[in-house]
Amino acid sequence: MNNIFKTIQDAEVIAVFAGAGMGVDSGLEQYRGADGLWTKCILINDKEIAYKDLLCHESFDTMPEQSWAFVACMTDQYKHAIPHKGFEILLDLVKDKEYFIVTSNCDEQFQKAGFDTNKIWECHGSVFNMQCMDILERNVYKTPLLEIDTERMVLISDVPKCPVCGLNCRPNMYLFYDWFWVSNYSVAQQLKYNKWHKDIKASGKKIVALEIGAGKTIDTVRKAARSFTEEDIPLIRVNPNDYEVERANQLGLAMGAKEFFVGKRESPPSEGVASLNPSKRGN
Ligand SMILES: [Zn+2]
Repeated sequence: MNNIFKTIQDAEVIAVFAGAGMGVDSGLEQYRGADGLWTKCILINDKEIAYKDLLCHESFDTMPEQSWAFVACMTDQYKHAIPHKGFEILLDLVKDKEYFIVTSNCDEQFQKAGFDTNKIWECHGSVFNMQCMDILERNVYKTPLLEIDTERMVLISDVPKCPVCGLNCRPNMYLFYDWFWVSNYSVAQQLKYNKWHKDIKASGKKIVALEIGAGKTIDTVRKAARSFTEEDIPLIRVNPNDYEVERANQLGLAMGAKEFFVGKRESPPSEGVASLNPSKRGN
């Protein structure tokens, strides 16, 4: 493991691709994935409702109070979650280098841990932002503080309204089966990332990609990592499941995010590390 951290330390550029697995060690629930919340149900007024039916565009139309109650509970959980030690160690590794974070997590834990907000692409949006149910408006707003009875999962505040037209809002994040997510805000972050990617590719600097807790079910983050590394940039994949890698300059580690950053730094070096010299690009 020490060799792996040396590889990361030696790099001049670090691209981080983080999925739900980065957040679970802070005690946050996974929403996707084989055992994610979306496979489960809750009781609301003695009626069993699947989470995935409570977190889709239609539900914010047909049962906005219940859907917002659930979102307010999530937001409350995220607000109180303390990013685990791995975030701090990662920030230490990248803060004096060129870096970018690509994450499907909607929980703003990277911002909370002190990462530069200009270096984050939230490819599925954020639960702390909202948009009008009239998706043609295309505006993104900060979600106001919502009062919630977390025990009974009942919204005490009103459903948040659009400041332009007064219609209900919904969270500005990619929901289940979502055709109606207004992705403007996320796309603006993506354009910054794309420019950064182009610039560092041309710079000839030593680059390494770190993929952490990114699953295969919704593989947006994995796809981004694949397109970033192409053939020649080394990739370190950290995941308790699906950690297999495809190329010689990639390394798969079967472990969770916190374990990777905190738990096993004293272990002997793993096989395959020798091939993980950060690549020189460009020129
Ligand atoms: Zn509106």
